[in-house]
Amino acid sequence: MISGILLKGYSGFYYVFAEGRVWECSLRGRFRIRNQGFLPGDRVKILPGTGDKGTIEEVETRHNSLVRPTIANVDQAFLVFACVSPAPDLNLLDRLIVQVTAAQIKPILVLNKIDLGSRGESTAENTFPADGLDFYRQLGCELVKVSTKTGEGLAELQEHINGKVSVLAGPSGVGKSSLVNALSPGLELKTGDVSRKLKRGRHTTRHVELMVCGEGLLADTPGFSSLYLPAMKREELTDYFWEFQDVGECRFADCQHHKEPDCAVKAAVASGRIQPSRYEHYCQFLEEVIAAERRY
Ligand code: GDP
Ligand code: ZN
Repeated sequence: MISGILLKGYSGFYYVFAEGRVWECSLRGRFRIRNQGFLPGDRVKILPGTGDKGTIEEVETRHNSLVRPTIANVDQAFLVFACVSPAPDLNLLDRLIVQVTAAQIKPILVLNKIDLGSRGESTAENTFPADGLDFYRQLGCELVKVSTKTGEGLAELQEHINGKVSVLAGPSGVGKSSLVNALSPGLELKTGDVSRKLKRGRHTTRHVELMVCGEGLLADTPGFSSLYLPAMKREELTDYFWEFQDVGECRFADCQHHKEPDCAVKAAVASGRIQPSRYEHYCQFLEEVIAAERRY
């Protein structure tokens, strides 16, 4: 038996990526009853048959799953923003970081459209410097700068994709679909007949599926740009603001860095060690989390 990852289920068949190629699998009888629950991203064991055919014999327990797009065992999320048109929405960016980190998914920032305007300079349309996302690197967040138009940065992005299951997230207009299309030519090179059948049919019924992208798997749908924070405890929120961890001690051990006096986080904002926008978003999210707690 060989291990693989489910790409999609389609009219009774399950397409599994294993050992560098795609297998068209049917299900062992005992799975047929409860096959409804399979998701792209599920880790499976298959018994190879003739040619590209196989049967799914085992399914592993998931370590996470997303609702939108519905994919299991996601390793990382590319949070896609454009340096201009539209300028980055840092509130949404911080929100997505919280959301994916809370789901045990690694966030990687992708700054697209770097062909527009020179980096680091402000344009008339945009007063936000294109390099403005650089401070996220200091927070320990990876940042890849790309242009789907010129192809710049796509090789570096591909390196991040290899060996992982990834999804895209970000607001509309930033170039998520363009990215998926720019990255998908790898498909033809790597895969055989079965995967040609798998070609993303834009006009057929849309189900989320994973596509083979170089040596990694990428959700073929733009993903999510959710505006709501998942249910969480207010104490949990600070865990996702990494730079708040090492600014020293607040007067109160359980300080929420909001209205309390002698707060090390607020002092760090005042001294410029913490980016004001990050703190502002933290306060906003904290209020949302507290409001949600009251509702239940
Ligand atoms: P989505 O809504 O995030 O899926 O964004 P799209 O992929 O539909 O792209 C939105 C617009 O941005 C389209 O007009 C694209 O042609 C354009 N676009 C995407 N990537 C780039 C890029 O790297 N540079 C430039 N100049 N335009 C881009
Ligand atoms: Zn504090």
